[in-house]
Amino acid sequence: MGKRDYYEVLGIDRSASANDIRKAYRKLTRKYHPDVNKEPDAEEKFKEIKEAYEVLSDEQKRAHYDRFGHSDPSDKGFGSGTGFNSNFNNLEDIFDMFFGGGRRNPFAARQGADLEYRIQISFEDSIFGTTVELQIPKTETCPTCSGSGAKPGSRPEKCNVCHGRGQVEEVKNTPWGKIQHSRTCPVCKGEGKVIREKCPTCTGGGKVKKKRKLSVKIPAGIYDGDRLRVRNEGEPGINGGPPGDLIITVYVKPHEVFTRDGYDLVCELPITFGVAALGGEVLVPTLDGKAKLKIPSATQTGTEFRLRNKGVPKNRNLQGDLRVRVRVITPTSLNEEQKEALKHFSRLCGEYVQEQNHGFFDRFKRAFKVD
Ligand SMILES: [Zn+2]
Ligand SMILES: [Zn+2]
Repeated sequence: MGKRDYYEVLGIDRSASANDIRKAYRKLTRKYHPDVNKEPDAEEKFKEIKEAYEVLSDEQKRAHYDRFGHSDPSDKGFGSGTGFNSNFNNLEDIFDMFFGGGRRNPFAARQGADLEYRIQISFEDSIFGTTVELQIPKTETCPTCSGSGAKPGSRPEKCNVCHGRGQVEEVKNTPWGKIQHSRTCPVCKGEGKVIREKCPTCTGGGKVKKKRKLSVKIPAGIYDGDRLRVRNEGEPGINGGPPGDLIITVYVKPHEVFTRDGYDLVCELPITFGVAALGGEVLVPTLDGKAKLKIPSATQTGTEFRLRNKGVPKNRNLQGDLRVRVRVITPTSLNEEQKEALKHFSRLCGEYVQEQNHGFFDRFKRAFKVD
């Protein structure tokens, strides 16, 4: 029995999207999973579904299947001598396989290439959004020769290698004999014409580089590395095709104080030992100024406090939080009076620590063999 069509197996249309294919696959595997379905042919069906999915979910395999169906020329067509004729629909397929399908109609309208652009913005601008003025290098039709590439007063001449066709015939030897193949004319590069006297502005290319000013809105909350697509601001189309797009990659400069975690801002705040031990009120930097934060007594390094709605705006009404992680600072450059006070404090603490951590100090002494 011949294999069923993969689209039929999954019960989908030939134009189904990748998402449709995935959905159909999930539904069917749930239904025919051999652990669930006890019908005699469930396992067979399950295998068939898996195979169809493996092919149709892979873009390349799917394209191949759409073209060749179940007969796969890369498996059996070559070398074996059988099936050759049945596997190829027409001569053009053979050409495409041998010459990489490079037979593009030079006169067809094509979309212009996308332009890539990179910018760097400040952390604050990434949070609140901004507008940037860009100077985009763009290719435009040369104003001197209006794109012909020839010096004003002269004209491009017909290429005498391809006689203006842009293509030359070539004969290739293949295992099946000689195959005639046409390829792009190497002299005129497919243009069908050659320029004897070049335009001084564009040196014969017919295009000039220009800078174009463009103002682009950067949305609030953009992440480092995000890409924005500006429609129709890329390279001009070819033969009347639409222009390409401008793709802007936005890099965000790191902030000296804040990092970002989703809609929350995170910062580390140094506090003195005194405030950490006794508690107190400190000032915390925010993106738009300062805020007060109450530190409770006996606060440890690494403790995190949350200031509501001081983070990244989500929309008009919602905002993330500012998370402040405190770090207790060891005092440096103490004067004599401070040192004395600390020594006194230490003596008081020393007794306390030893009492509380009796076991630990015993183990410590044993480990280092000290008395
Ligand atoms: Zn020119
Ligand atoms: Zn030519």
